[in-house]
Amino acid sequence: MSVPRLACYADSVRSDGRIPCRLCPRRCIIPPRMRGACGTRENAGDRLIANTYAKVAAIALDPMEKKPLYHFHPGRPILSVGALGCNLACRFCQNWEISHPRKNRDDGQWLPPRDLVALLHRHRERQPVGVAYTYSEPLMWYEYVLDASAEVAAAGFVNVLVTNGFLEPGPWQRILRDVHALNIDVKGFDREFYRRVCGGDRDVVLRNVETALEMGKHVEITLLVIPDATDSPDDVAALVRWLADMDPDIPLHISRYFPHYRMTRPATPLATLHRMQEIAMQDLNHVYLGNIPLADGSDTSCVQCGALLLERSGYRVRAVGLDPGGNCRQCGTSANVVFG
Ligand code: SF4
Repeated sequence: MSVPRLACYADSVRSDGRIPCRLCPRRCIIPPRMRGACGTRENAGDRLIANTYAKVAAIALDPMEKKPLYHFHPGRPILSVGALGCNLACRFCQNWEISHPRKNRDDGQWLPPRDLVALLHRHRERQPVGVAYTYSEPLMWYEYVLDASAEVAAAGFVNVLVTNGFLEPGPWQRILRDVHALNIDVKGFDREFYRRVCGGDRDVVLRNVETALEMGKHVEITLLVIPDATDSPDDVAALVRWLADMDPDIPLHISRYFPHYRMTRPATPLATLHRMQEIAMQDLNHVYLGNIPLADGSDTSCVQCGALLLERSGYRVRAVGLDPGGNCRQCGTSANVVFG
């Protein structure tokens, strides 16, 4: 039986019946019986409710590499779940069917936190390492991720967030409490692009990346390279310098854009992706290409001696040159790889 859960971070009802939501920087003020811009939080008259709580719209046992996380439990399966809704409005959204569904949809399979843990145990012959909250925007599933990640961690599994990182600072720190690793989608380094094409604020996302690192979380970054939008060599160089100043071992995934949703320009040429990878590798030690047909540019090598450490073919991975501590077998240099 589905029970709506009280939304976190809501102010009290105003005299005109509207309720301010304080979860993300969009700061919606929601009229009675309406929902915020993300479609996941509804003014029920006297309170704000999280109407996608425990409603799973997509579920699969995925390889960790599909998130993508290349340096966190490589080769292990992870139970991946997602709900409807997102708080950004990217014109190029690659998952728009579930991120931006028709208004007032919140359908999905009812899977409360305890049942999620039970499902992990039921899959134990495949040895899933934990749960990834992914597919649309898990931050808009806030209350469920908060409750579920606590249960999952208490049962000895890991939690992974695949997220746009667009949240107010207090809620962001709180939701990371039981999260072990994140792939954060940094849409680009141009503030105006973030505002105009995504409806977001670049500086909020960058600050949240910094916070996640300060909290000791394993962080990998994805950058979708879109022609004439996020393919400026200067912007990519600035992004990687900012990352490298924090830690040159942060893995960066440069992902190929395809026309989707409200953006029709042609897919990113492969030559552009290789050029961006070259630029990024001037400052970062681990830069990968994603969303391309061949496993080109997806192996992990030792930054010190060049030995092959992780060999990837599609989503299959072989640890050919790493010791169990995540160090190069040949020269002992750390590769920033977390193993189970
Ligand atoms: S979480 Fe949703 S309802 Fe709340 S401010 Fe953000 S977009 Fe608006």
